[in-house]
Amino acid sequence: MDFEQNGADFDFESRILSSTVQSEDGKEEISLRPKTLSDYVGQAKVKENLKVYIEAAKKRGDSLDHTLLYGPPGLGKTTLANIIASEMGVNIRITSGPAIEKQGDLAALLSGLAEGDVLFIDEIHRLPRAVEEILYPAMEDYALDIIIGKGPAARSIRIDLPRFTLIGATTRAGQLSTPLRDRFGVVLKLDLYTPEELALIVKRSASILGLPIAEDGAIEIASRSRGTPRIANRLLKRVRDFAEMKGDGSITSEIANYALQKLEIDGLGLDGIDRRMLGAIISYYNGGPVGLETLAATIGEEAITLEDVYEPYLMQIGFLSRTPRGRCVTRRAYEHLGLPLPAPANGEQINFFDDTNGAEAR
Ligand code: ADP
Repeated sequence: MDFEQNGADFDFESRILSSTVQSEDGKEEISLRPKTLSDYVGQAKVKENLKVYIEAAKKRGDSLDHTLLYGPPGLGKTTLANIIASEMGVNIRITSGPAIEKQGDLAALLSGLAEGDVLFIDEIHRLPRAVEEILYPAMEDYALDIIIGKGPAARSIRIDLPRFTLIGATTRAGQLSTPLRDRFGVVLKLDLYTPEELALIVKRSASILGLPIAEDGAIEIASRSRGTPRIANRLLKRVRDFAEMKGDGSITSEIANYALQKLEIDGLGLDGIDRRMLGAIISYYNGGPVGLETLAATIGEEAITLEDVYEPYLMQIGFLSRTPRGRCVTRRAYEHLGLPLPAPANGEQINFFDDTNGAEAR
C-alpha cells in the first residue's frame, strides 16, 4: 500500500478533508445549520431512534455504531452527522468519496483519528472499490491491514485503530456494495419534509438572519421548496432580496409569491428543469414510458441529476412514476401543466401509471 501520507501535511488536509462544512451559500449557511437534535426539525423517527442509540452508546462509554444516512441531496445528512458528533461529545472529520483516491489517503485519515471520533464520508457510494476494501477491517475490527514490500517478500502487518464511528452519507444506498452496506450497524433513511416542517425551518432561518417574516410568507416559501430544507433556505434568501428591494424588508406571502414568480418557481415548487422534463416526456414520448438516459439526453441534463435531484419530488407529488419500462407522467402532471391528455389511438385505452409506489426501475 502507498502509505506516504502524513496527517499534518497541508496538501493532504486541503485535498481530502474539509475542515468546515461548506455549501453553495458560504458562511451564512453554516450558521443556519441546527447544532443539536432538538433544533433539527422533522425526521421524527430518525431522531427518536438516534437519541436511543446515542444515549445507549454514551451510557456504555462506547462509540456509536457505524451509521449510514441516505436520501436525496439537501435533506440534512451532513447536518445530522455534525449533530451526532456533537451529541456524542467527539470530533468529526469530514471528507467525501470522490476526494479519497488512494488506499493511502484513507489509511492516513483513519490512523489520524482519536478514540471515539466520527469520520464522515459524504457520497460514500463514490469511494473507489480498492479504497473501500481498507474500510472493511477498519469498520469491523478497528484495524488497518497494510502490505509492506513487493513480490515474494511482501508481508502484511496489522495496525490497530481507535474505536471510531464511520458516518456515511449517500443519495443512492442501492449503489453501495453489499459488504460495505452490511457493515453499518445503523441505517437511517431521510424523507422529504412536509410543508409544515419546512415552514418551521424557514421561520427558524429567518430569525437567525434577523428577517421579519409572516406566517403566510413562511408557508408560501415552504410549500414551494420541494420538500428540501436546503432549497427552503435558498429561496428564503432570494425572497429576502426582493423584500428589501421591493418592499419594507419583511417577508409576506405577497412578496414571497412575487419573488418566486420572478424565479420561475411555480405554486408546487417546480422549476424550469422539472417542466422541461415533464414536457419532454409528454411531447416526445406521448407521456412515456421513456428510459432515464434517453430522457436526460433529450433535455440536455445528466441522468444522475434527474434521478437524484428531480425525480424524488416529482414522484412524491404523484407527477411521475417509474415503471419497469421507463418513466411515465401521470394524469396529474398533465393537469398541472394545463396540457390536454393524449387522445387514445384506435380506441385503445391509455394507461396512466398513477401509482407512484409502483415497480421501480432504472
Ligand atoms: P445533505 O448533506 O443531505 O445534502 P445538508 O445537511 O447539507 O444536506 O443540509 C442542507 C441545509 O439544510 C443545511 O445547511 C441546513 O441549514 C438545512 N437543514 C437540513 N436539515 C435540516 C433540519 N432538519 N432542520 C433545519 N435545517 C435543516
